[in-house]
This record gives sequence, C-alpha cells and structure tokens, in this order.
Amino acid sequence: MIASRIDLLKYNEFEFFLKRDDLLGKINGNKARKLAFLETNKHQFKKGQVFISYGSSQSNALAALAIFCHENDFKLIFICEKISSFLKENPHGNYLTALKCGVKIIENEEFANRKSKALSLKKPDDIFIEEGIAIKEAEIGYKNLALELQKQLNEKVDIFLPSGTGTSAAFLAKHSKFKVFTCACVGDSAYLREQILALEPNYDFSNLTILNPPKKYHFAKPYLEFYELYKDLKSQCKVEFDLLYDMVGFKTLLANKEIFENKILYIHQGGLDGNVSMLRRYKYKFD
Ligand SMILES: *Cc1c(COP(=O)(O)O)cnc(C)c1O
Repeated sequence: MIASRIDLLKYNEFEFFLKRDDLLGKINGNKARKLAFLETNKHQFKKGQVFISYGSSQSNALAALAIFCHENDFKLIFICEKISSFLKENPHGNYLTALKCGVKIIENEEFANRKSKALSLKKPDDIFIEEGIAIKEAEIGYKNLALELQKQLNEKVDIFLPSGTGTSAAFLAKHSKFKVFTCACVGDSAYLREQILALEPNYDFSNLTILNPPKKYHFAKPYLEFYELYKDLKSQCKVEFDLLYDMVGFKTLLANKEIFENKILYIHQGGLDGNVSMLRRYKYKFD
C-alpha cells in the first residue's frame, strides 16, 4: 500500500494542506496512483510482456511507465511525434529516464496521429495504455487515495488538484467524501468534461467542480508570471511544484479563494523531472 504525508503550509496569507504525493518514490505523483492497479497485478504478466503507449517524449507518463516496465522486466514501446534534434542530442528529463530504462521510442512520421501509429504496432498480446495513463483501471489507486486522506485528516477540507486528462480528479472525486475542485491545464473546461466522459460515459459530476483559470493559458508555454509564482512558492513553502500543471492550478486556486468553505488540501502530483526541460526554457527566456 502506498501512502504519503500531509504538510501544513502558507503562501502569502493563504494557509493550505499539501498532500505530498511527490515524495512517493521513483514513480511518484499521480502516475504512481494511476499505476497502482498494475503494481498489484504485475505477477499476472510474464517477463518480456510488451506494453505499448503514446504521448509526449517529455511526459511524466512516459517516465512512470518506463520505470515500471524496467523494474519488472517488461518491455515498453512508446510512440511520440518527431523528437527535436536538440532533445536527441541532449537527452534530459523524462526522455532520458525512458532511454535509460530501455524504452523503444518510435517517432510517428506517417500516421495522422501517434495513437493510430501505436494501435498499428500493437500485437494481440500487447497491453495498450492510453496517453497520460487515462484508463479506467486507474480508478482503484484513487479509491485508495480517498481512503488514505479520510484516515489522515481530522477536519473537513476542500480538495484541489489541476487536471490534464482529468483521470485523477474524476476518480478521486468519485470516491472522496470531501468536495473536489480542479481546473483544465490542457484545453478548456468543456474539453476536460469531454475527456472525463470518454473515460466514464455516465460520470456524475456532483462532487467535482471544474473552475476556470483567471485567464487563458496555453499548455506548456512559458509565462513569466508562472516562473515568478514557481520561485515564490519554492522560497516561501520550501517545496518545488510542477511548472506545467501546478502553476495553472495555483493561479486558479488563488483567484477563487472565496468560494471554498473549508481549508484547501492541494494534491502535489509530482512531475518534477519534467521541470528540467521547462526550467531550461524559462531561464533562456527570462533570466
Ligand atoms: C500527469 C499529470 C497531471 C495530469 O493528471 P490527469 O490525471 O491526466 O488529469 C497533473 N500534474 C502532474 C504533475 C502530472 O504529472
């Protein structure tokens, strides 16, 4: 069973709990929660079992799947779009982790998208994993997280976590007795709802509120205000947050402070290995 601690922190005058899933281990953050079902069931697979997935060559999902397969003598095939020559010549971050774990990384050149290419390569016994590990089997990890939080907290909280595919927020809200709030970091709120409904067609949104960020941000674009917030949070809270999701998360959280009825519990979903490449871009652009 995995478990992480809860800290009480303050940013400016804003006091909040922080669930330290970033400290879960080599595979951490929400990718560890998503992979909990595979961890539990891994003995059902033979050595050499092939897993096949697709997504960004710098994604946390790639690194998490790479470590999982490497540790268990499984094979991972991962399809991404064309990799920049800079990254190929200077491997770093999640891409480097994947290379070290022996992942077979294939660039999509001929298909309309990387998913089609991944499906074309899948053999009958291969296990196909959707981008971002957005799969219904991930639910069990969030059921456990909801119970873990219930045991650890002795006061009522409102939970906040930023979303990519919405898998984490949706499954946590489904099992949590606390209200869950999220925001879309990739696309807008309507797109986030769509993704959650693709995961679970009859999803009941009654315990999940999707808040709009204070303005429109483009995913993975460097914004000076994010870089400043990242540095501020780091110096005041002594915690490093993820630059892709957490900055949109904190902007949204702070802009909506007055709507929460209880103290916020923010879930740190890891992702710090992905910061290496973003920080390089920030330093180049703003320092
Ligand atoms: C993958 C990831 C997310 C997005 O999670 P979803 O379940 O797809 O919404 C958010 N934050 C971090 C740090 C991540 O690695």
